Amino acid sequence: MASGKLYGYGGRILRVDLGTGAVRTEPTPESLAREYLGGRGFVAKILWDELPVGVEPFSAGNKVVIASGPMAGLFLPGSGKIEMGTKSPATGLYGEGNMGGHLAGELKFAGYDAVIIEGVSPKPCYVFIDDDRVEVRDASKYWGKGCFEAEKMLKEDLGEDFKVATIGPAGENLVVYAVVSHDFGRQVGRTGVGAVLGHMKVKAIAVRGSRGFEVADPAGVLKKGKEMYEACFAKPGFDEWTPYGTAGVTDWVNEICAFPTKNFQTGYYERHKAINGQTLKERICILDKGCTGCPIPCGKYSRFEFSGKTYYVEGPEYETIALMGGNLLLENIEDVAYVNYVADELGLDTISGGSVVAFTLECLEKGVLTPAEVGRELRWGDPEGVAWLLERIARREGIGDVLALGVKKAAERFGKGSERFAMHVKGLEVSGYESRYAPAMMLAYMTADIGAHHNRAWAITYDAAVGQDKTEGKAWKVIELQHIRPLFDALGLCRLQWVEIGFELSHYADMFPLVTGWEYSWEDLLKISERIWNLTRCFNKREKPDFGRVYDLPPLRWMEEPLPSGAGQGRCMPRDKAEKMLDEYYSLRGWDSNGLPTKGKLQELGLGFVLERLKLES
Ligand code: SF4
Repeated sequence: MASGKLYGYGGRILRVDLGTGAVRTEPTPESLAREYLGGRGFVAKILWDELPVGVEPFSAGNKVVIASGPMAGLFLPGSGKIEMGTKSPATGLYGEGNMGGHLAGELKFAGYDAVIIEGVSPKPCYVFIDDDRVEVRDASKYWGKGCFEAEKMLKEDLGEDFKVATIGPAGENLVVYAVVSHDFGRQVGRTGVGAVLGHMKVKAIAVRGSRGFEVADPAGVLKKGKEMYEACFAKPGFDEWTPYGTAGVTDWVNEICAFPTKNFQTGYYERHKAINGQTLKERICILDKGCTGCPIPCGKYSRFEFSGKTYYVEGPEYETIALMGGNLLLENIEDVAYVNYVADELGLDTISGGSVVAFTLECLEKGVLTPAEVGRELRWGDPEGVAWLLERIARREGIGDVLALGVKKAAERFGKGSERFAMHVKGLEVSGYESRYAPAMMLAYMTADIGAHHNRAWAITYDAAVGQDKTEGKAWKVIELQHIRPLFDALGLCRLQWVEIGFELSHYADMFPLVTGWEYSWEDLLKISERIWNLTRCFNKREKPDFGRVYDLPPLRWMEEPLPSGAGQGRCMPRDKAEKMLDEYYSLRGWDSNGLPTKGKLQELGLGFVLERLKLES
């Protein structure tokens, strides 16, 4: 029911046309807020409504949508998440990622729930937002700079109180896994939002906000927020988890044979202790760094020496340790921190970037590529070689021009059987969990809308809890997680308080009506998350007419090569077993046998409008 006043929202959507330089604001539609909440929900609905069908990711028709959520910027744990989405140049499908830091709250303080960036600027620019003053400004002096350097320069020029997000050389050069970087170490990674901004010639977004926004029950929010912090601090996991952040999980992942090692050739790395969270803490971490409102800061800010020089970097966090540590056979935490720094400054995603480097090393190992084709000798475990290759990729020089397209397209280009070790689903490189001995995690990768990303469902703990060999009966858990975790992304929240220290979901359910004034139950919120999940699935079908089951298959390596070592030795996921998991998953979701939502399902979820633009069989 429309009431006119939006509590918990900035109340406006900002539209920036880079082609003309025009900016305008529109009221945030109450129906959009009620039906899609914010963040990921806004991104999905706006992209569905506004992108021309079949738009090229690198064209004037594509857009970047940046959105916070109703819980962002508030006095409650983890209220610092912002979403950015676009049609992905990495996959040609729905693309989106989130990051922490302090941009989400700042944007809402300036009075905006979302920013829609469209068109292509004739020259490098940045979007300047200072409450109602919005300008497209010249960015020539920042173009070509690294992410950290550009952020530092912009803060020096505009003032420390501006929150700044930048792209690096990788984004400028359209590397399809280029990130958007913020707060000197937080990134929107994976699906190439940074590359689309690079195509638009947008170097940065700088935001300062002072308008604030209202909540439905200010006293109730304060009281509940205080209670939430106290509950977080009292959790037994608080003291165990916080010192190491996500890196603390390294040994456990290795033990269950899920640690990506040597381009996922196996799931067990003998030198895991040299790059784990404890070693990070002891050797290089100098301070904890968190996002807006975070009681469990997972950012580990590090200082380290490499080749006689001192470097500073936020991290490495677990995914970087996995994809740029074990997966490249790097042997100590300083080496991992160094390549982490290089990737971050260039604006390259460390997960996809690590996977691309590992793929290249295996191509050399198997004779698919020669050192002459690559440009030099490269070997496993060599951080300087890794940094050299990352630089070539970000600059699109030599072999880097092909590697900038990701492992799927590089394998298509290189041939010679290299597709057998190109580790991706839907064209997106697999993140930090080898899954031949973790079927629920594999199913989560297979069915994630953006490709093989763990952020949609971290199901590996369920594998460990109910049996790593078991494949049947796990689909329901993957679906449950695929509704809970992305719900955080729609609300503007970090999920790690819940995931890592067991913070109860009921707290968020209690807080939501105090913020918005809407009496939604937790089940109501999950239903909205399911709506968004089905919408992005339909987006993928709309953009690729052949989209369906075949896009949900795991990498060939996982279907054909048994694990050679570790606790999961001998395990793999033959195609017929993978297909059976999909059958169970589709059936539970109310989708047809090709993995597409049925008309009935769409109607049930309030997505009947999808049928105007998408022809479905059943
Ligand atoms: Fe940010 Fe980490 Fe805290 Fe989440 S747990 S809010 S990502 S610092």
